[in-house]
Amino acid sequence: MDIHEYQAKELLSNFGVNVPPGALAYSPEQAAYRARELGGEKWIVKAQVHAGGRGKAGGVKLCDSETEIQEACEEMFGRKLVTHQTGPEGKGIYRVYVEGAVQIDREIYLGFVLDRSSQRIMIVASSEGGMEIEEISAERPESIVRSTVEPAVGLQEFQAREIAFALGLESALTQQMVRTLQGCYRAFTELDATMVEINPLVITGDRRVVALDAKMSFDDNALFRHSAIAELRDKSQEDPREARAADRGLSYVGLEGNIGCIVNGAGLAMATMDTIKLAGGEPANFLDIGGGATPERVAKAFRLVMSDSNVQAVLVNIFAGINRCDWVAEGVVQALKEVQVDVPVIVRLAGTNVEEGQKILAKSGLPIIRATTLMEAAERAVGAWQNDQTQATTVRAV
Ligand code: GDP
Ligand code: MN
Repeated sequence: MDIHEYQAKELLSNFGVNVPPGALAYSPEQAAYRARELGGEKWIVKAQVHAGGRGKAGGVKLCDSETEIQEACEEMFGRKLVTHQTGPEGKGIYRVYVEGAVQIDREIYLGFVLDRSSQRIMIVASSEGGMEIEEISAERPESIVRSTVEPAVGLQEFQAREIAFALGLESALTQQMVRTLQGCYRAFTELDATMVEINPLVITGDRRVVALDAKMSFDDNALFRHSAIAELRDKSQEDPREARAADRGLSYVGLEGNIGCIVNGAGLAMATMDTIKLAGGEPANFLDIGGGATPERVAKAFRLVMSDSNVQAVLVNIFAGINRCDWVAEGVVQALKEVQVDVPVIVRLAGTNVEEGQKILAKSGLPIIRATTLMEAAERAVGAWQNDQTQATTVRAV
């Protein structure tokens, strides 16, 4: 789960990371009022969206009067901000963060990520802040400092000092840098984050180390033990299909293709997507309905898949181990009666009670295309979608 910059800054400041004074606003008027409260003469108005690259896309504006703040906000509120990280559809701006502007002397890149090969938290830093890390590694790879943290002892002070030296920080700033690094590290581990990125971390004119931007992501599987973080979720920033699925306890990832998939088990879902591709098609989604797929769950899954207007065929692939095929078949029949499904539906069942399951499908009188193997199911799904007009009318479900 991702959170907003202002939320990440608040969390990190609780761990001793310096951030500029700032306040959140939900309207242009409120933003101007917040600036007055903050005091000072220059402010930065920042669109709060779950994406980086806002600066280049008009989502970060330097203002030196309340009128300018209002104008900057009028441009932002309600609009979709399109950055190189949002995709062409962009992300809606419903909140802005107003901060007292900081005079920047130097910009540093700082990131904490999980390094899968060493199975450790890795600190990635660069003296080339402000640019995206992808750009830095393409253009100035020699500027990147990497350091993995030994989990048994955590981030040691000497290790943090080494990073500060490698970035060429003057000695008077070392202690602040150590505090920043250790604060980020503690926030990462104690809050079960998967990523902390401060870009830029700046050295101000008055020699302070300040996080000007902050990004954090969290491990969804650990949110149950961080209710305060789970509450920071902002559904307006998520793919609406994925948000709806998460609310219903289904794991769903929307994709670009047009064959909808309803599968039990993540591994089988991956195999199903691969097989669809092998048969020449493109999956519209990844959807794992889980182990105990009740008829209600199957119906929910159909509703979700059919809400994607790109879907031109639905492939249901169930391998019943703990599950029972007859039960799943009943779910499919019930779903097709309740949900408007006007595209071909291909069902492949295998495992426990498969004969009973097939009988239920056959007896239902619904135009369900049955398949025995996964390959056959994928070929039929792709075939049904390719000849869609002629075939779709004959197999159209009511
Ligand atoms: P991003 O583009 O989404 O990563 O947004 P950032 O928060 O990183 O802001 C983009 C850029 O705006 C930063 O790299 C800074 O150069 C600049 N910026 C942000 N806050 C301030 C500030 O307080 N003072 C000045 N001078 N520049 C700022
Ligand atoms: Mn940034």
